[in-house]
Amino acid sequence: MASLKLSHIYKVYDNGHKAVNDFSIDIADQEFIVFVGPSGCGKSTTLRMIAGLETITAGDLFIGDTLVNDMEPKDRDIAMVFQSYALYPHMSVYENMAFGLRNRKMPENEIRERVEKAAKMLDIEDYLDRKPKEMSGGQRQRVALGRALVRDPKVFLLDEPLSNLDAKLRAAMRTEITALHKSLKTTFIYVTHDQVEAMTMGTRIVVMKLGYVQQIDTPMNLYNEPYNKFVAGFIGTPQMNFFDVTLKREGNEVVVHFTNGDTIILPYENVSKIHQRYLDGKTKVTFGIRPEHIDLDENERGLKIIVTNVERLGNETNVYGKLGDSLGEFTMKDEGNNIVVKVIDRDDIEIGDIVYAEPNPAKVHFFDAETEVTLMSRIPEFNTVSAEVSGGGMTVMGQAAALPPAFREALGENRQFELVIPPDAVIEGSDFSRKVAKVEKADDKNLAYLENGDQYLFALVGEGVKAGDDYHFSLRNEKLNLNAGGREVLHALDDEDFLTGTFSKTEVKEKGDRVLHFFYNIGDMKIEAQPEHGYKINAIDGDSCYKNSYRYGVPRDAVRIAGAGENGLAAKVVKILDYGDACFAKLDAEGQELLINVEKGFDRKQVRVTFDTEDISVYSTEIDMKLC
Ligand code: ADP
Repeated sequence: MASLKLSHIYKVYDNGHKAVNDFSIDIADQEFIVFVGPSGCGKSTTLRMIAGLETITAGDLFIGDTLVNDMEPKDRDIAMVFQSYALYPHMSVYENMAFGLRNRKMPENEIRERVEKAAKMLDIEDYLDRKPKEMSGGQRQRVALGRALVRDPKVFLLDEPLSNLDAKLRAAMRTEITALHKSLKTTFIYVTHDQVEAMTMGTRIVVMKLGYVQQIDTPMNLYNEPYNKFVAGFIGTPQMNFFDVTLKREGNEVVVHFTNGDTIILPYENVSKIHQRYLDGKTKVTFGIRPEHIDLDENERGLKIIVTNVERLGNETNVYGKLGDSLGEFTMKDEGNNIVVKVIDRDDIEIGDIVYAEPNPAKVHFFDAETEVTLMSRIPEFNTVSAEVSGGGMTVMGQAAALPPAFREALGENRQFELVIPPDAVIEGSDFSRKVAKVEKADDKNLAYLENGDQYLFALVGEGVKAGDDYHFSLRNEKLNLNAGGREVLHALDDEDFLTGTFSKTEVKEKGDRVLHFFYNIGDMKIEAQPEHGYKINAIDGDSCYKNSYRYGVPRDAVRIAGAGENGLAAKVVKILDYGDACFAKLDAEGQELLINVEKGFDRKQVRVTFDTEDISVYSTEIDMKLC
């Protein structure tokens, strides 16, 4: 039994190929985690790093509370099952299963007990004397499982264990492995390229593409709320339909315009999380709808389609078609107007028929046409509200509020402007008040829909806030973007600045021992690094670390004015950003910019700042990689 933690794990192979990028996950004890994605996306590499069969280039891997990056595979208390079974052909099933235990010098009577118990669980008791070649593929895979089982490991790692089996056996083994996981109460990590295996077996699934994690979620969340078009298309068969469309808000409705001129109408309520800038009738977006979420409508409502193929599977029928009413010239090219509809109990549809497809408005998906990221995130990225300079202050959402000096300066002559407000910048306070339309759970947070004219203002709220309440709030001004005159005039402050520098070491004798000290050098500052970070950077980059330059991520909270005589970075104060509740000084340290939190009225022109080094993150500048 064990939990696992992967923290910013990277794998760069010796040939320079970056196979895994910034992989982080906390795996709870007894979870069944599935890594899924197309061939070459880095699933096996990640699994092999967990097993210890592949070195970890950067990042931390914990099994339980133990950092195991440098631990030998045999000491990690994990067992791995491979696609190829990897059985010894000259040994009997019993000997294959006992082999690892004998290597560990376990007493023979205990070995027998364990092998017999595992054989019973896997229903191969009658085959213990056979050689692998006298068994079927399914039986051999059970032996491979048995060999892992007898070790009673903390974690089971399975790499495409069912790929060599035929479809029927695969389905049966899926159920058996799931049952085995339940009875063993152990952590399983399972790699597959097969989305059906992933969906049916995983408590959570990690979807990967080209070395990057796309989404980590429960099977149903992946299906219902895919983060991007890739995940949406990867989960589900036949795959989700995608169309290029534009969206236009018209009162309580949103009109979806297809490129062929067709339209469908959705209630605004179903797509209220889509930011209004996508609802202008011009911005191209991608519309996604699963085949099983489309009705074929007798009443000629919805999209007119001509049927090009019908797959009758018995229990259900997949109807393939093209938008429009003519087949045109045959081409295999997907012109973006192909559609597939999954229907049940319909055997009357024929090729050439004209049918009407009506998407279920509660099941629609929309993605940004460029980034392919969903426009309907569980927590919307930001709200946009209009505002105006009035008197000495500003009017926002119909209410007067103080105009922070930083806003006034950025706005210049502009009087009309927009505030771009992320939901977590709406905090409890007394400046504004809005009625709560509803509250929903989103990623363990409470997302409130605050009534605000013809759209919602989304806010993250505490427990206990409920529909019908008047919610009183203020805004974290430094977390807002300001748009005026058609452009952004002020950008929200990040919580971290990045400074470029070098890395060095000195060796000193302390009580007769030679001790290494590592340093981050930024401008004229040299501050000592945490020894474990220093060793880590040296281990990853070798001795070239003393020649490379690094990007240092410095959280705002870690920056402070250096005390007298303390080593620090000399910087000019370029500007004071006064946000009302919070105040910052923008500093220029030999061309590098950073911000520091200051008191109101701060008026120094020159400062020396220093950092708490344990909070600093270090990034390679050679390849985009977090080192620690
Ligand atoms: P998956 O298991 O998702 O099919 P892998 O983890 O096996 O993918 O591989 C991820 C990527 O790393 C692939 O592009 C693969 O070609 C590459 N790769 C795997 N092993 C090595 C290696 N030893 N040296 C260089 N590149 C490798």
